[in-house]
Amino acid sequence: MNISESAYKQLLREYDEKQLKAVQACRYRTRRIEGEIPELNMINSRIAQLSVDMAVMRIRGRGADRQAYDREMKSLTARKEALLRNAGYTPEDLKPRYECSLCGDTGFIDGKECSCFKNAIISLLYDQSNLRQILEKENFGTFSFRYYSREPLEGKPSESPFLIAQKAVSTAKDFVLSFEESSDNLFITGETGTGKTFLCNCIAKEILDQGHPVIYLSAVKLFGILADNTFGSRNQERIAEDLFSCDLLIIDDLGTEYTNAFIQSAFFNCINERLLRNRHTIISTNLSIEQIRNSYSERVFSRIAEKYTFIKLFGKDIRIMKKLEG
Ligand SMILES: [Zn+2]
Repeated sequence: MNISESAYKQLLREYDEKQLKAVQACRYRTRRIEGEIPELNMINSRIAQLSVDMAVMRIRGRGADRQAYDREMKSLTARKEALLRNAGYTPEDLKPRYECSLCGDTGFIDGKECSCFKNAIISLLYDQSNLRQILEKENFGTFSFRYYSREPLEGKPSESPFLIAQKAVSTAKDFVLSFEESSDNLFITGETGTGKTFLCNCIAKEILDQGHPVIYLSAVKLFGILADNTFGSRNQERIAEDLFSCDLLIIDDLGTEYTNAFIQSAFFNCINERLLRNRHTIISTNLSIEQIRNSYSERVFSRIAEKYTFIKLFGKDIRIMKKLEG
């Protein structure tokens, strides 16, 4: 799990507050119920006294009276339960009502993060990625093959957009499954509207759900950030560090950005640094690999050719097809 230290501390504070709230509400509820059932007060005082006596006995090693104490404790507890039930309550009403009964809203069980705490971190990662809304619509569950034709490609009778899309999805799922062990990267090509961005979103959702931070940027935005970083303010340094170190960086629509020699060099640094740190990158583009060779430096081209798995999507423009369907 990887959220910023300040976000982590904030989450811990929220858990403390949640826990405190449940305890305070319980105190308030207990006082009210004791007001309704005065005998309860006496029983509770006696139970408390009895517990202290029992502890003292244990320290002094006098176990002989133990049975008498146990008997009294049992009868007090039974009387208390009966009083509560007569008034329409249960013993649970005198206990704090935590949101998570597993960890009692501490976020931890035996020093390990509780599942509720892990989910809270994933939720923060979603907020951080700004992808929450789009990923509700675009994920492996909603990916549809019906927009991909089963007609064979010209000159390739054994290939069709449909079969190629099936292979692409299977490669994307392998990428997700082996994310933590492998250092694989993806290069997704295809013409406009063939589902590249959709496929990137499918992957982003799975990786976020695994609890990894994902940064999703259009190439235009990324190159804007890289161009800006010349001035080296602290904020820009932090952004650059995030770009180098986040578990998955998705660069959408490479080839649409404004660029120059300086930005090219910054771009190379970015993808090279990520390779050195074993951080995954996905690039999607309308450009063919030949165009990449021509448009970007040889260094960029060779890194991509060597270290990225290629996925190509074919087909008609899905956005237009969807519009035609109404
Ligand atoms: Zn919990």
